[in-house]
Amino acid sequence: MSLPEAQASDLARRVQADFAAESRLASAFPGYVHRAGQVALATEIAGAVDTGKILLAEAETGIGKTLAYLVPALRFGGKTLISTHTRALQDQLMHRDIPAVMRALDTRRHVALLKGRANYLCPFRLKRHMALPRMEAGQRRWLGLVMDWSHKSRDGDLAGLPFDAFENGIGGMVTATAEQCVGNRCPDWNDCPLMQARARAQEADIVVSNHSLLLADAALKAGEFGEVLPLFDAHVIDEVHSLPALACQHFGAQMSRLRLIQWLNDMQAELEALGDEHTLKVEVLRLGRMLIDAWPQQSIQALVGSWQPLCDLAASRSDRSEAMTRLGERAAQIAGDLEAIDSPPEGHVAWTEGEGEAKRHVLAPVETGPVLATHLWTRPASFALLSATLRVSGSFAYAQERLGLPDADTSHHPSPFDYRRQALTYIPRGLPDARSPEGVSRLLEAIVTLLEASRGRAFVLFTSYQMLRRIAPELEARLPWRVLTQGQSGSRDAILEAFREDTHSVLCGTRSFWEGVDVPGETLSLVIIDKIPFAPPNDPLLAARVRRCEEQGGNGFRDIQMPEAIAVLRQGVGRLIRKQEDRGVIALLDSRIYGKFYGREIVRNLPAAPVTAAISDVQAFFDGA
Ligand code: SF4
Repeated sequence: MSLPEAQASDLARRVQADFAAESRLASAFPGYVHRAGQVALATEIAGAVDTGKILLAEAETGIGKTLAYLVPALRFGGKTLISTHTRALQDQLMHRDIPAVMRALDTRRHVALLKGRANYLCPFRLKRHMALPRMEAGQRRWLGLVMDWSHKSRDGDLAGLPFDAFENGIGGMVTATAEQCVGNRCPDWNDCPLMQARARAQEADIVVSNHSLLLADAALKAGEFGEVLPLFDAHVIDEVHSLPALACQHFGAQMSRLRLIQWLNDMQAELEALGDEHTLKVEVLRLGRMLIDAWPQQSIQALVGSWQPLCDLAASRSDRSEAMTRLGERAAQIAGDLEAIDSPPEGHVAWTEGEGEAKRHVLAPVETGPVLATHLWTRPASFALLSATLRVSGSFAYAQERLGLPDADTSHHPSPFDYRRQALTYIPRGLPDARSPEGVSRLLEAIVTLLEASRGRAFVLFTSYQMLRRIAPELEARLPWRVLTQGQSGSRDAILEAFREDTHSVLCGTRSFWEGVDVPGETLSLVIIDKIPFAPPNDPLLAARVRRCEEQGGNGFRDIQMPEAIAVLRQGVGRLIRKQEDRGVIALLDSRIYGKFYGREIVRNLPAAPVTAAISDVQAFFDGA
């Protein structure tokens, strides 16, 4: 669905005019600077939207990517989806950027925000749980507070609650997963906040949503179960580098103890509601207990067998109520997933991860390109796919393969920042492997020395939880500044807020802090990375990808492990310089850079800052600040 040609060229011209130095946009944003890269990107996006094409664009930090896609999206006459990976960016677009750009352009478009299911109250499940005769007093009190709030809430978005439902153990009771939702058979359908949000999205010109929902929608449409999102004329997918990893989840299957417990709880609640199925209730309880107790040691083959009696029991009562029909369907879906994990279909790999109660069985497609190509890019619509980091060693080939877009138009917009002046890269020589006996202590000393030079104001990004747990407490004991540690100092958002407020604080985190984090200014003056982020070679998905690559004549290290590590590294170092006036140091504490054949390639993918192995240069950099 593309606009007629005449209108199409109008759109590109219009967008260029919007970015002109004397435009309304320029006068509406104080400090607006005409940036050729930003205008070029906005024009390309308008072109892709006009012609129904797919554009894959890398817009490095500082280009002003958000404005570059919002202007064409707001000027376009068709229905547009803007999808992001992080919730923070979704909220920022909805509540800050889109209203500001609409005001600046003096245009009005109908915009709706659509989040994932877990963000909306499910009145059906809330009432169900309130009616249960047995429940902990604390949980009943929280549910009562949600009920009171639901009478006042306009949109049922749980972000409006004065507390976190999930942290207080009732999130699963007041929301519905896709499996738990009874859909149009629901008695609360007309008052359902999720269905109302979807209806608003149907009516809107622009929908702001996230990748998980986009992929869930694509997976559902593939299975012909129903629609989550409306159809769009144009898609703007920001943070697109994260799409392949998410596609592995949405086009695979996961089996956890919690998923079984949720089904068993819902089954018990429905049998309770039916009131006359006492014998069945006792039997479900007995079989369910056996299943849950055996979870830590039971193999996937054994699970397939022990699930079947529960599946049969649910099927035998599926005509008793709408909810029982749905429970029967869910049980069959679980049985299907268990069988697929036990014997993976062609092109998929299955593995078990975690231990004890946290053990999970996972199924994922080995290659994401064909999946995305089949389920997303065949849609009759345009796609502008954007990220600050797509290229590896100057090439889009790896991203194109992962996304399934070998022939897409590509473009690169380099950062306007002057990394030679604004930044320094420090890579020490002679650090031993962190797994060696002296490795951890030498790494710790190197980090302390750096943090003393920068007086805190740093992210310390680890490639493993294990190293985070060993180093972070030591830093806390030795440094005079506040140390915020992932998993210990509150939620991700709370940690970031505390970091922003306390200029000299130090944030220690793993992968979730490598991307989607924006902390401009002096509070983030140093990014330390403990080592090159190669995925562990025993990662089953990576091993399957490497195997497949080598079967086809490729080289697993060169074609998969290296580009994967470089993509993650580029995200991590990208946290440092966010504005023209920012200054700082990137410290990559991995001496393999000097001794291994791939070292030069890694450095080539770092920002164009001077590289030093001398700590005195780092000290001089900060002393001169
Ligand atoms: S339609 Fe689904 S999400 Fe909405 S109230 Fe009913 S069960 Fe809950």
